[in-house]
Amino acid sequence: MSSLPGPTRDHRHSLADDVVSALTAMFPDGAGLHEPEFGGNEWAYVKECIDTGWVSTAGEFVDQFEQTLCDLTGSPYAIATVNGTAALHICLILAGVRTGDEVIVPGLSFVATANAVSYCGAIPHFADIELETLGLDAGRLGRYLEEVSEWRQDHRVNKATGRPIRAVVCMHTFGHPTDLDSLMAVCAALDLPLIEDAAESLGSLYRGRHTGTFTPFGALSFNGNKIATTGGGGAVLAQDPDVAAAAKHLTTTAKVPHAFEFIHDQVGYNYRMPNLNAGLGCAQLERLSDFVSRKRRLADHYARTFENFSEVSVFTEPAFAQSNYWLNNLMLAHDETAARNTILKTLNENGIMARAAWTPINRLPMYANCPAMPLPVVDDVYARALALPSSPALVEGIVVRS
Ligand SMILES: *Cc1c(COP(=O)(O)O)cnc(C)c1O
Repeated sequence: MSSLPGPTRDHRHSLADDVVSALTAMFPDGAGLHEPEFGGNEWAYVKECIDTGWVSTAGEFVDQFEQTLCDLTGSPYAIATVNGTAALHICLILAGVRTGDEVIVPGLSFVATANAVSYCGAIPHFADIELETLGLDAGRLGRYLEEVSEWRQDHRVNKATGRPIRAVVCMHTFGHPTDLDSLMAVCAALDLPLIEDAAESLGSLYRGRHTGTFTPFGALSFNGNKIATTGGGGAVLAQDPDVAAAAKHLTTTAKVPHAFEFIHDQVGYNYRMPNLNAGLGCAQLERLSDFVSRKRRLADHYARTFENFSEVSVFTEPAFAQSNYWLNNLMLAHDETAARNTILKTLNENGIMARAAWTPINRLPMYANCPAMPLPVVDDVYARALALPSSPALVEGIVVRS
């Protein structure tokens, strides 16, 4: 343990050593970061698609997948898409985001959150997060927007750029629900629509209700590294029948139903999830609650493994949340980039896939000149967080330390 005072270099060295030996003891044979698991009806359903010829964007698995999503999340409507980024793109369009607008986005997220804004011709405006949830800091966001924006005629304008601020996207980081009540209150006060990027939080509840269903527009992802996968896929969760109909229309090339004519009444998108992927997804969703409970047990193992460490902690769900623990994260107590890098390098050399948090999006070259509020917590979390292996299957093979 590294609690004794000593030269800085030795201190860092021993912290890295302690963390690495705890994890190599847990996973002597190595571990992937997040691997999909296909032990149920996956093969049978995919084979059925091929046997019946229904492999593309029409077919009963797509409808069944959407219905199952509604049952699991409590959302009245779900529209399956080719991926989560496409789902987010559709949410932004339906929230009214247009070319030249600005959209508030957390500085710490997967790059797709900002990319979907760019696909609308809009500009991401980065906001800071809070340590308790790793999601947007509602209090500071509200005060910041009061200061830098004003209401002109029928929309909110960034006083510095003159551009409309059209919407806010929140994200449930690593599967942990963000503070939705506070964010919804701030967005209501500022008259801004809130969109939930729930790509990582399938199976996560905020005050007992499923994430992605609190705002008119929620986006899910079923990419290969998410808690349940369709290979590639996503879904829009909608609460209103008109929003749901518009999402379905936009994702299916805006085709107007007709017995034999091809009529499209706007520029739509070819974003509908193929039946082949939905078949895989139906089998995965049958096992979602099992994935969640094993991932929560794995999170528990991590918490116990590191409970006596004074210099690191395992990120745990906020009190109002029940998290799917999509990606477990170890937080160093101090900003010690050297220790973080040593731990990551050594773990990967030992076949244990661990990763840094995403590089803050505002530091990426294509987003470096976008507007941003001060982002001290984004910078702090990026410097201190390490993502740990989180596949549900890992919980079975864990070597429990005495
Ligand atoms: C995975 C992810 C997405 C995008 O989903 P894809 O299905 O990969 O397009 C968007 N936002 C966040 C936060 C994600 O983690």
